[in-house]
Amino acid sequence: MIFNYIKKFIFPNRCIMCDELLPFGFDLENEFLCNTCRHKLEFIKEPTCKKCGAMINNSSDMYCARCEDKLWKGFEYGFGILRYNDFVKESIHRIKYAGRKEYIDFYGKCIAKIYKDKFKEISPDYLVPVPIHYNRLKERNYNQAEVLAYAISNELKKYNIHIDVNNDLIYRKKNTKVLNKLDPFSRENELKNAFEVCDVSNIEKVILVDDIYTTGSTINKISEELKTAGINKVYFAVIAIVDNL
Ligand SMILES: [Zn+2]
Ligand SMILES: [Zn+2]
Repeated sequence: MIFNYIKKFIFPNRCIMCDELLPFGFDLENEFLCNTCRHKLEFIKEPTCKKCGAMINNSSDMYCARCEDKLWKGFEYGFGILRYNDFVKESIHRIKYAGRKEYIDFYGKCIAKIYKDKFKEISPDYLVPVPIHYNRLKERNYNQAEVLAYAISNELKKYNIHIDVNNDLIYRKKNTKVLNKLDPFSRENELKNAFEVCDVSNIEKVILVDDIYTTGSTINKISEELKTAGINKVYFAVIAIVDNL
């Protein structure tokens, strides 16, 4: 703890929304957000889609239009904490392209805090980060999904929940294009042979971890491949889900 204080004093945190340096503070919000930015986080509230977890307008609906339309078969259910608004978009953009790896800690803590009971109930064998291609890893120096998975796993330990990260289960063979710019057919084509599932022996249930849930295609594709390889249940956890109201 003392070490933490000294570290924070010498290297103060930056606000995960506006990137300004923060004054000294130690609870979860003060440590990661400035006063002006606190309201910029829009936590997902009920009613939500019973499949992907996105916010929906009508509580009598089971699914969002995206899930209704596709009837995804790959994954069971999704856990997201935030609506993907412009502020979160900017924050995640800095994580990926401006080296702000440290923001991820906040998001990992929030996911663990909000979903700890669900994760305990599911009791998965592993948290599995969605892999990025080697070329992107070289540019970025880290896979944000992997850093997030470790942040969640570490935070869960504080609640006495132990779920390890498995970073060797899926390998990304293809450096896929940005999918939300493509039509559904090209998207499917792009994801063909993009991943390889490695040894799944003794693994029954996993929670995939990624930064954003956008079209759902990547998460669904990986889930399908994991199931073909023999895994029973696949869930996913993300920082933000793109609205589909
Ligand atoms: Zn701020
Ligand atoms: Zn949905």
